[in-house]
Amino acid sequence: MVREQLEARGLHHRRVLEVMGRIPRENFVSGSRSRSPYSVYADIAVPVGRGQTLSQPYMVARMTAELDPEPGSRILEIGTGTGYQTAVLAALAGEVWTVERDPVLAEGARERLSELDVENVRFRFGDGSLGWPEGAPYQGILVTAGAPRIPTPLVAQLDEGGRMVIPVGPPDLQELLLVEVVGGEVRSRVLTECRFVPLVGEAGWASPPA
Ligand code: SAH
Repeated sequence: MVREQLEARGLHHRRVLEVMGRIPRENFVSGSRSRSPYSVYADIAVPVGRGQTLSQPYMVARMTAELDPEPGSRILEIGTGTGYQTAVLAALAGEVWTVERDPVLAEGARERLSELDVENVRFRFGDGSLGWPEGAPYQGILVTAGAPRIPTPLVAQLDEGGRMVIPVGPPDLQELLLVEVVGGEVRSRVLTECRFVPLVGEAGWASPPA
């Protein structure tokens, strides 16, 4: 996976590749013990139930590399899902605060990370479009669900010099944005196109798609 899907596409962030080479992706897809490892490590997003997906390995690596979490930093993640991306972030940063709006997914992720003895993660079940103000400011914010626009509460919780990686745009195709606060000014630039499930919440989409 690391060689064929990540390095071959120009991803050379050494720490991200090292971490993704050792975190067992199969632990994050339930029932995967009966699946072939090929499907879990394949170059695709994997359905994980409750209408959600575990992102394609390349997208996890790309987003993490763009966020570039430093050791000791505090990262906010919105959309815990399976907890795979959370585990990748936790291996690189000081602490990860992660928010998921689906209680069943949130609990599953908590159990998986505890099985892997990952201890530097705090979980919250709720609307992550509003962030998690108690932990702010964050040096990095990673959003793994597509937003209609950049949620203002998240920008407010980003540290000076911090980075946010977030998919923004209509439900069928979004732009992956890198948002930075530099000298109090918010700058954003498009990294690539992507397709994520919608960010549903007060500063996101009003309701899940029918
Ligand atoms: N990063 C995940 C995949 C995320 S899929 C992984 O590695 O497995 C997107 C997730 O965002 C879904 O679990 C969905 O329930 C969640 N989500 C959508 N809107 C949300 C919101 N407002 N707050 C928190 N989580 C949200």
